[in-house]
Amino acid sequence: MFSAEDIREDFPILEHIIYLDNAATALSPRQVVEAQADAEFHYRANVGRGVHRLGRLATHKFEEARDVLQKFFGGEAGTLAFTRNTTESTNVAAHGIPWEKTDRIVVPLQEHHSNILPWFRLEAEGKIAGVDVVGGTDGHIRAEDIAAAITPETRMVAVAHASNVFGTIAPVKEIAKICREHDVLLLVDGAQTAPHLPINLADLGCDYFCFSGHKMMGPMGIGGLWMRDGAPKLAPAYAGGGMVGKVSGHAFTTAAGAGKYEAGTPNVIGAVGLAEAARYLSRLGMENVAAHSSELAHRMVDGLSEIEGVSVTTPSDVTLVGAVSFTVDGVHPHEVAYFLDEAAAIMVRSGEHCCQPLMQKIAPNGGGTVRASAYCYNTEDDVDLLVATVEEIAHMVK
Ligand code: PMP
Repeated sequence: MFSAEDIREDFPILEHIIYLDNAATALSPRQVVEAQADAEFHYRANVGRGVHRLGRLATHKFEEARDVLQKFFGGEAGTLAFTRNTTESTNVAAHGIPWEKTDRIVVPLQEHHSNILPWFRLEAEGKIAGVDVVGGTDGHIRAEDIAAAITPETRMVAVAHASNVFGTIAPVKEIAKICREHDVLLLVDGAQTAPHLPINLADLGCDYFCFSGHKMMGPMGIGGLWMRDGAPKLAPAYAGGGMVGKVSGHAFTTAAGAGKYEAGTPNVIGAVGLAEAARYLSRLGMENVAAHSSELAHRMVDGLSEIEGVSVTTPSDVTLVGAVSFTVDGVHPHEVAYFLDEAAAIMVRSGEHCCQPLMQKIAPNGGGTVRASAYCYNTEDDVDLLVATVEEIAHMVK
């Protein structure tokens, strides 16, 4: 098991703040920043195009990064295209799947906008027949709810592997089995699990997997869309340089492999940084990261639940990916977050967490919740200071 204390020096800003907003974006360690600087200084060039030595080196590093990521996720039996983030990945899938107008998509209510709005838009544009929103507001996704919502028209289930509001983990393997039995596609939004859980895509059983680099210590502006070999091939969302095979008259063929989804100059430096983040996480061991994140989340749940006037929205009886949501009676979530920063330099997220359909049910006052989210460099002391400061806030309004 790694020690959070030992790795903190890789994240210089932690000398000054308590960072508990990891579900929004994680900090990058020195190693990731240095890998990007090295790429900028020594092999900044376009990829897959020219033949000069910098271009060849950049192409090699870019493809090596893809390979590192693919192995990190156990996704060798599929294609990994670099995108900007999870949101772009879900949109590329929404654009590219060869839909029939009669198709329906099943989506849990608690999803992030990035895994709801692309499907609502297909519905609004008449490209599919509709979206069936399922499940409750307690943070648990139940495979039986998904199974019950599947009809002969269901073409796809789209589900987040973990909730960015509750920190709870969905039973994706079970859902994948149900999908296979009904010949339904499964898209998994892995934004919140790619940073925290060991992921083996060969075992998980989904057709498409979306993730963001910035939540797993990588740079912003780089993420991925993994597509299982055998899943319907996506039509590329963008046409232009880099994604093309042969242009004949006004017609063109597309490049083979991931390249056809990477039109234009890709984020080569970002890919190199993201691969370094995956190496860093692999050195810590994803089993260890998972255990550490869940332990700290449970310490938060336990500590916050003891405070009078604080309601914890995150369930206490399951493994968590580090995120915990709560509210303080009589204090707006933004005020709580502001006070935590002013009083103790603690950074947390407040508001609707890009989950308005859920928030309209669980926080109809419009303020949403406060969310504190831990990662591998957070310590028990960070959590204890959070709990003590929230207690101060709750007492002030008594
Ligand atoms: N899905 C989930 C579950 C998320 O937590 C997030 C980020 N908050 C996203 C999708 C979107 O990620 P990004 O902004 O990196 O596209």
